[in-house]
Amino acid sequence: MRAWWVGKPGPVAGHPLVFGERPDPSPGPGEVLLDVRVCGVCRTDLHLAEGDLPPRQPGIIPGHEVVGEVVELGEGAARFRIGERVGVAWLGGTCGRCRFCLRSQENLCLSPTFTGWDRDGGYADRVTVNEDYAYRIPEVFSDEQAAPLLCAGIIGYRALSRAQVPDGGRLGIYGFGGSAHLAAQVAMHRGASVYVMTRSEEARRLALELGAAFAGDADDEPPVPLDSAILFAPVGWLVPQALRALDRGGTLAVAGIHLSDIPPIHYGSELFQERQLRSVTANTRADGEEFLRVAADIPLRPTTVPYRMEAAAQALQDLAADRITGAAVLHMD
Ligand SMILES: [Zn+2]
Ligand SMILES: [Zn+2]
Repeated sequence: MRAWWVGKPGPVAGHPLVFGERPDPSPGPGEVLLDVRVCGVCRTDLHLAEGDLPPRQPGIIPGHEVVGEVVELGEGAARFRIGERVGVAWLGGTCGRCRFCLRSQENLCLSPTFTGWDRDGGYADRVTVNEDYAYRIPEVFSDEQAAPLLCAGIIGYRALSRAQVPDGGRLGIYGFGGSAHLAAQVAMHRGASVYVMTRSEEARRLALELGAAFAGDADDEPPVPLDSAILFAPVGWLVPQALRALDRGGTLAVAGIHLSDIPPIHYGSELFQERQLRSVTANTRADGEEFLRVAADIPLRPTTVPYRMEAAAQALQDLAADRITGAAVLHMD
C-alpha cells in the first residue's frame, strides 16, 4: 500500500515525512482492516512530524481522523460488517485495568495507545483498528465532513465540557482552526455567545459567518469578561492573557497536546477570584459517542479543505503556516 511515515522529525520545510510503499497491515484478534477513504490532518500530526511529540515507533504512519470501509475482520471481531463505514480516532486502546480506566477516566489511562503515534494511522491506503475503539459515523456526514469530527470535533467537545460554560454564558476561543470551529458551533447551539481571538483573517471571517459575537486578532481583548475560555492555539504566552480576560470564577481550558512555555502567571490579576486553569487530555470513548450524536443532531457544518493523499506534506506545511481555514482532509483515491 501507499503510505506516509515519519522519517527524521524536524521542521516541515525539511520534509520530515516520507512517502512510499509499505506492506498491507493485517487485522489481529479483535481488529478490523479498513480501506481508508479519507484522513483528516490534525495539528498533532504536525507536532509528531516536527518532533514536538517524539515518535513512539520508528517509521510511524500518522493520521487519526480516518474514515474507511471494513474489508477484513480479525479473529473474533464481530462489531462491524464487511463494507461498513467506520471511523478511527486518536484513542487507539487503553489497558482497562488501571485506576483511571476503572473509574471511567480512560482518557487518563496509564498505558494507552494512540493512533498515528503508537500504532500506524491513516495517512495510508489501509489501516487496522481495534474494533472496540472504532466509531460508527452518522449518515448525515459525508466522508470528508466526518474526518475532522474524529479528533478535532471530539477534543473540541471535551474542551468545551472542561471549560464549564454556564447556560447562556460567554465563551472565549483562542485560535480558530479545525477543532475550534466545531466546538464554537456546539457552544452557540447551546446558547453561549462566542468571542474568537485568532491571527488568521480568514478564520475571523469564518467565525463571524458561523455566528460568533466577536472576532479579533490573537492578542485582542474580548469586549466583555468571559465566563469560560478555550485555548486551541499551542501558544503558552496566551495563557496569562486569556486568564485576565476571564470574569471572576471563570475557567480556562487548554486544549492542545503540546503548548509552548507559559510565562509567569500573576496571582492577583490572573488566578485569584477563583479563576481556574485546566488542561484537556485526549478523550474517553463515551465522549466520542456522545459528540457524534450531538454533531448529527445539530447538525454541525465542518469547513474542510480537500487534498490528494500525495499532497500530505503540503497540507502539513499549509497548516503550519496558518493557510488552512477549517480542517484539511486527505483523499486516498
Ligand atoms: Zn488504563
Ligand atoms: Zn488530533
